[in-house]
Amino acid sequence: MFWYRNLIKLSTPIKSKTPITKNLLQASLSHFSTANQPPASAQAQPSGLGPTKPHDKPRVVVLGSGWAGCRLMKGLDPKLYDIVCVSPRNHMVFTPLLASTCVGTLEFRSVAEPIARIQPSISSAPGSYFFLANSTAVDTEHHEVHCETVTDGTDTLDPWKFKISYDKLVIASGAQASTFGIHGVKEHAIFLREVHHAQEIRRKLLLNLMLSDVPGLPEEEKRRLLHCVVVGGGPTGVEFSGELSDFIRRDVHERYTHVKDYIHVTLIEANEILSSFDDRLRRYAIKHLTKSGVRLVRGIVKDVKPENLVLTDGSEVPYGLLVWSTGVGPSPFVNSLGLPKSPGGRIGVDEWLRVPTVQDVFSIGDCSGFLESTGKPVLPALAQVQYRVGPKLCIN
Ligand SMILES: Cc1cc2nc3c(=O)[nH]c(=O)nc-3n(C[C@H](O)[C@H](O)[C@H](O)COP(=O)(O)OP(=O)(O)OC[C@H]3O[C@@H](n4cnc5c(N)ncnc54)[C@H](O)[C@@H]3O)c2cc1C
Repeated sequence: MFWYRNLIKLSTPIKSKTPITKNLLQASLSHFSTANQPPASAQAQPSGLGPTKPHDKPRVVVLGSGWAGCRLMKGLDPKLYDIVCVSPRNHMVFTPLLASTCVGTLEFRSVAEPIARIQPSISSAPGSYFFLANSTAVDTEHHEVHCETVTDGTDTLDPWKFKISYDKLVIASGAQASTFGIHGVKEHAIFLREVHHAQEIRRKLLLNLMLSDVPGLPEEEKRRLLHCVVVGGGPTGVEFSGELSDFIRRDVHERYTHVKDYIHVTLIEANEILSSFDDRLRRYAIKHLTKSGVRLVRGIVKDVKPENLVLTDGSEVPYGLLVWSTGVGPSPFVNSLGLPKSPGGRIGVDEWLRVPTVQDVFSIGDCSGFLESTGKPVLPALAQVQYRVGPKLCIN
């Protein structure tokens, strides 16, 4: 089965999308199944990992490879459990350093750790696997997770559906960037949550620096290309704005002297920047950002167009690079689960991180929160918090 595991982990492109590929995949997934094999007539049914047998190790299925899920997998003993991780990415992202990769202070590989390094059994133990897929539904009655392979940007396979039976399920699928339904955000802005976002930001920044230097380009267009706009004055937006202004002061002023006077950073925030922080810290951040040339604008974005955004007061802000960082909320996957919810729409858990209405289901990380009945506050969406809940669940 090794060839198959390597295939999904590395997403090695296969040139032709022939039925042979599909048949092989289907055959391989059926082979995983320890349940009764379906008759040939039922071939259209998704195959997968069937229920474990009484003498097998219990199977822990972890949905997500972020701070919470990876910390949990790291702490699980593969001698006691088979570990199966389902996630659309095969690495963990060290998010606090992501902003530094956008401007080249750090390289991308410095902030991404392969899951197989965090929990080696996942790529070596016979019953443990990593599947590059999104979980799409959870059938708590039959102890099954429904999944669909990730095929973004490849023509390797059509999305492939399969099921995994679990003995214990841990939902750690994180949160999703909020857009508040504002038109044009998804199409024109770049989020800052994944390594590919940071790569896109760096590429666009450098491209705009180059393009703005071509002869004959109108002044106005030059200014637009080099106007970097960050929406959202929370910790990520503030940190990224700071990184950008450092990059401008250190690198652009030294290496792109032709255009150095055209490049600017604007940070747009509806309320106060760093509103959840102590007043002293907030004042320090404002002073520091202003001193380093970041323009702070109080405003609410109502529309995003390809080259400018519109604020509710009607003013238009042209941009060459737009980074969107207005906080996070529950993902469509979490919204779709028929599980109890905590305030804010996260999956509701008790003090032991169990989803109390169903058996053998736990939830950790940004996708979960304590139920109101526990009397505990919903924990903040922070890596520091999620890194601690992983070991707590291992102990439970
Ligand atoms: C740029 C940035 C900087 C940050 N800086 C800090 C900081 O300095 N300090 C701090 O404490 N916190 C920081 N945070 C917040 C911190 O990163 C999050 O709180 C933390 O990542 C949450 O961990 P998690 O495991 O719950 O979710 P995530 O780390 O978001 O992981 C979720 C995982 O689930 C996967 N997934 C999503 N949907 C599905 C699905 N349907 N099926 C299966 N898998 C799925 C995702 O691909 C991902 O692997 C920062 C966040 C960002 C974006």
